[in-house]
Amino acid sequence: MTARIIRGAEIAAAIREEIGRDTLLLKETRGITPGLVTIIVGRNPASVSYVSAKQRTAHELSFHSVQEDLPEDVKEDELLAVIEKYNRDPSIHGILVQLPLPAHINETRVLYAIDPDKDVDGFHPVNVGRLMIGEGRFYPCTPYGIQQMLVRSNIPIQGREVVVVGRSNIVGKPIAMMLMQKGPHGNATVTVCHTATRDLSFHTRRADILIVAAGRPRAITADMVKEGVVVIDVGVNRIGMTPEGKAKLSGDVDFEGVAEKASAITPVPGGVGPMTITMLMLNTLKAAQSVPCE
Ligand code: NAP
Repeated sequence: MTARIIRGAEIAAAIREEIGRDTLLLKETRGITPGLVTIIVGRNPASVSYVSAKQRTAHELSFHSVQEDLPEDVKEDELLAVIEKYNRDPSIHGILVQLPLPAHINETRVLYAIDPDKDVDGFHPVNVGRLMIGEGRFYPCTPYGIQQMLVRSNIPIQGREVVVVGRSNIVGKPIAMMLMQKGPHGNATVTVCHTATRDLSFHTRRADILIVAAGRPRAITADMVKEGVVVIDVGVNRIGMTPEGKAKLSGDVDFEGVAEKASAITPVPGGVGPMTITMLMLNTLKAAQSVPCE
């Protein structure tokens, strides 16, 4: 079997078109422009590049977008005061603090400080709890993107065996929670694996849908999957440099080998990556749409 390639870039482009249309409608009908602030502390090159991409996309969608650059040595209280300023700012509907934060800042305190109604990254415990009880409002962007890729690629989820490799708070746990929920885009039987899992292959070989977010190149090879599996490779690993001096990226899955057995697979790059930023924009639009009418 040769796998169908699930191109996140194309699905993301279609969703962005829908966001563009709904943004225009919101402006015309209620005079509301979705507003997003991205807050970055320090100049970590990867974080700077992620935040620039988010700002660029927000501009392309004609959002009101603001970037807050804070110095590496900013005090935690100063960062909390900036968050509070945007919590109160009616022109801002979504607040994103780029992680990771420097070691002297307590990440939990910062995430707890964001108004849950503006928490477009979906990391505030109120939104994590809502997701768990099946009343999710803002789904974390990467898992939300994965779910949309499955749905929009017409891959059935209901009743399937889903195996998730990785249990981080930003990918593994939330995607497991989303796909096991009772409902049209869930109803799967989900197994979650991690480094203490005794026999990883035993689980991955049972998967109808395998979602890999381990952060380890070639963590999944062809002998670990069954014929016809759908594979979502979340991993982004820098494995060297191209002759042009750009970072060479690989996922967590041995793409060539696994693609020969899978029925569908996401590439890296061009798979999950482009979906993540798009879902952030969708969450920001949703936050703006939920502003009560005066
Ligand atoms: P993380 O916090 O490092 O978590 C990795 C998880 O994988 C942990 O739960 C770990 O288990 C598990 N794990 C690692 N090696 C394993 C192995 N050999 N067998 C079984 N489980 C293993 O990583 P993350 O933040 O979830 O990110 C995962 C990957 O996705 C990274 O490459 C990251 O760059 C990428 N990512 C991509 C996007 C995107 O938009 N494309 C977004 C987020 C993340 P323990 O809990 O036991 O340590």
